[in-house]
Amino acid sequence: MTDIKELLLSRIRDVADYPEPGVMFKDITPLLADPAAFTALTDAFAEIAERTGATKVVGLEARGFILGAPVAVRAGLGFIPVRKAGKLPGATLSQAYDLEYGSAEIEVHAEDLSAEDRILIVDDVLATGGTAEASIQLIHRAGAEIAGVAVLMELAFLNGRPRLEAALDGAPLEAL
Ligand code: AMP
Repeated sequence: MTDIKELLLSRIRDVADYPEPGVMFKDITPLLADPAAFTALTDAFAEIAERTGATKVVGLEARGFILGAPVAVRAGLGFIPVRKAGKLPGATLSQAYDLEYGSAEIEVHAEDLSAEDRILIVDDVLATGGTAEASIQLIHRAGAEIAGVAVLMELAFLNGRPRLEAALDGAPLEAL
């Protein structure tokens, strides 16, 4: 394993049965509290933003905000929050998607995205891929392109990657 992978993994805490029985929650707060690890993560994401020709970074509520905003600053790009429905005050585009039980809806300010944009989506964990897939759909509907999806961790057994592949249309999904 590379040094950076080892450093990042050592700062992620597994919390069993949180927030409900059967879920192994990946807690990134130890990583955020460690400046060496947080900086290494930000640099690695910023390198992906530069390599994929991203023009803006989209962060997914809520941990994607914490991870994505410093990436945007480091790479010299704008940052756009994708929020849960009802939190953005301006004109929004929204996208509903299915959860295991029920459904959810995410929104973005329409004016933040244009046809000239190539978007790098940033989040902490890719699980089923439902949130990232809905975000890709939202960004496409705004007319922008996807540069890629960058996550700290991929829970491969939940099959998010194959789910996203069609929506990504050749753009990379990078899990550090
Ligand atoms: P999904 O849409 O199933 O890919 O879920 C992704 C979203 O849920 C991300 O924004 C994650 O922050 C969160 N998430 C899902 N599973 C976990 C987990 N085991 N630990 C921490 N966060 C998770």
